[in-house]
Amino acid sequence: MNPDDLWQRTLARTTQALASEALRPIETSYEYVDDGGVRFLVRVVANLRRKDADRRAVDPFSLPQSKQVNPFGPHDPELFVADLSSTHVCLLNKYNVVRHHLLLVTRAFEDQRRLLSEADCDALWRGLADIDGLGFYNGGADAGASQPHKHLQLVPLPLAPKGPAVPIAPLLPSAAADEIVRADALPFEHACACAPWGDQPYRERGPATHDAYLRLLRRVGLLPRSGPLPDSPAGPYNLLCTRRWMLIVPRSREYVEGISLNALGYGGALLVRTAADLARLKALGPMTVLERAAVAPR
Ligand code: AMP
Repeated sequence: MNPDDLWQRTLARTTQALASEALRPIETSYEYVDDGGVRFLVRVVANLRRKDADRRAVDPFSLPQSKQVNPFGPHDPELFVADLSSTHVCLLNKYNVVRHHLLLVTRAFEDQRRLLSEADCDALWRGLADIDGLGFYNGGADAGASQPHKHLQLVPLPLAPKGPAVPIAPLLPSAAADEIVRADALPFEHACACAPWGDQPYRERGPATHDAYLRLLRRVGLLPRSGPLPDSPAGPYNLLCTRRWMLIVPRSREYVEGISLNALGYGGALLVRTAADLARLKALGPMTVLERAAVAPR
């Protein structure tokens, strides 16, 4: 595929999949909630039952692979967008809240808890090369992943109609390409890198991104500082990656008071199911919710 086609293919496939109802968007309203120097975008879902039925009948991570129902292996051809590489395909997210939400899925089954590979990072940049978006990874069920088959995700920017393209981004410090930094305003463990790929062309950034990913995981204590790499990091985490920066956030739990969080939440875009959840989120403050689902700074 010519990767420049990815956006055009996304638009065309979305039109077809909406018409055939292979794509089942989740309708939301939204509002902004200011907390901790961030204008959080909070979406409120009228009805999550359909997605929950797919997702929560059984915890898919707890089943042996032979018993798992895997929506990505095989994937629904009506949601197929593109062949990204010999190892990855691009699909539409069937139950999308954000328009044009893409999944970057390994062709062969790999466990979502395993470390990302250089091939995963290459696939991510095949997406980011054509779509100025937020790439993200929910590393494990406690980080918000619902599917055990390895999948990165990509949503176009901006995340919110008003304000910064990624609400949390203004808190991230600028730094040299080889530095790993923290944002003083984030009250939980994390590590950030600013364009560790330097000025390499988009499609050549996979190896430098993979290298930075491993360094960020080491910095937050999810990988040993030396010795051979394990198959998986020591715990759940979220990865966020744009054309400009990368952020790793170790996680302790998926839910805080019934509110589920994934990597998008750490970008500043939250999703709640009901008005009662929204009220609880406002009472706690979104930054406190993020803090409770993460781990204390080391
Ligand atoms: P996560 O919940 O972060 O693991 O992301 C997996 C995504 O896959 C969810 O957002 C679901 O909406 C989506 N999904 C579930 N079933 C399918 C399917 N059959 N085809 C494409 N996407 C799906």
